Amino acid sequence: MPARAKSTPAKRTATKKRKKRRPPDPARTWARRLDRTRPNLVADVLAGLATIHGHPTWERRLDPTSELILTILTQNSADTNAERAFESLRDAYPSGLTPERHIPGPGWGGVGLSDGAPPDWAAVEFAPVQELVEVIRHGGLANQKAPRLQSTLRSIREARGDYSLEFLGAMAPLEARAWLTALDGIGKKTASVLLMFSFGMPLMAVDRHVERVSKRVGLIPAKTTADDAHDLFLAMLAPVEMYESHVNLIRHGRVICHARNPAHEICPLRDRCRFVNPKAP
Ligand code: SF4
Repeated sequence: MPARAKSTPAKRTATKKRKKRRPPDPARTWARRLDRTRPNLVADVLAGLATIHGHPTWERRLDPTSELILTILTQNSADTNAERAFESLRDAYPSGLTPERHIPGPGWGGVGLSDGAPPDWAAVEFAPVQELVEVIRHGGLANQKAPRLQSTLRSIREARGDYSLEFLGAMAPLEARAWLTALDGIGKKTASVLLMFSFGMPLMAVDRHVERVSKRVGLIPAKTTADDAHDLFLAMLAPVEMYESHVNLIRHGRVICHARNPAHEICPLRDRCRFVNPKAP
């Protein structure tokens, strides 16, 4: 039997290098720290929100391509204006496809789209850009959004051969999110909205309401960016808590925890809110 080769110092150093630990995941580190320093905060916030906003249940609200375009139209615009712009797209570029029903759900700030077929996405992509600007003018920021809609539709068609995003439903949530965020102009928020509302995937979309309420309570650090906050929530929440947390935090930001004059006196989160008491447990 051959003698075992002796481990040389050089080999030992190489092995040590290979075993070097990966840097800690900042999202998991934050979730553990929150658990340690403010026990049950997440559970208490979710329970408090449910006392006034209930337990919303998921229902698909639109096909994923429509959801994506509608979400782009909502960026820095009121949901009602985005609805008007989307309906103008339907009118200007009719597809003749089967009409769909928009189920806006409790987190949506508009009145809901009327029943109607999705627009003809090819016609939207290839429309003269100035024409498209006029079509979506009611939505706000039309000069920026018209070319953005066209480049998004172009990227989808070039990657997939058509405009359907139904294939995303068969992917793992983070894989699907990565596919979408690789498209020009699509960030984690827009991708998460689409995947959560069209497929019920357990992802968190952090809009300005979610960000404001969460920072005030102390669920996320005051200095964290909205982009990083997406991953903090994924580490803090169980998958089954994701949809309800998103919808109820948005509702809370809209109806109680306003940017100006938040209604602390009727808020079920006030005992644990660091905005009203910096030493809240
Ligand atoms: S207590 Fe006030 S600041 Fe805190 S979450 Fe409620 S409304 Fe917002």
